[in-house]
Amino acid sequence: MAEDCLFCKILKGEIPSTEVYSDENYYAFRDINPGAPTHVLVIPRRHIARVSDASGGDAEVLGGLMLVGNAVAKLDGLTDYRLVVNCGPQAGQSVFHVHLHVLGGRDLAWPPG
Ligand code: AMP
Repeated sequence: MAEDCLFCKILKGEIPSTEVYSDENYYAFRDINPGAPTHVLVIPRRHIARVSDASGGDAEVLGGLMLVGNAVAKLDGLTDYRLVVNCGPQAGQSVFHVHLHVLGGRDLAWPPG
């Protein structure tokens, strides 16, 4: 846990969130500013600031993140969806705790802006 991390505060229940999925390693909740009918964030309980900080020891937690993303999409009845990880401000990362965006429920343009 990192003291001043927004998503660590959500994990600790200090900031409210709308839970979609939870287990011992991951937590998933609805994005406060959804970009699609389904917009869920999946976070590992382990604090990793950005995906570029990950090392070999994080392989399992990062792999599991994708599997939880699949499970979350299924919970929302999606067969087609997008899984996105932004890394760094120029790529759109605004919260520095690794998170997977699960987006779906409408046609999604490619490439993103
Ligand atoms: P990123 O820009 O990839 O770092 O994604 C951060 C996401 O967190 C954005 O889509 C925000 O809308 C979302 N967000 C920020 N604060 C909250 C919050 N308190 N609850 C839920 N989602 C949030």
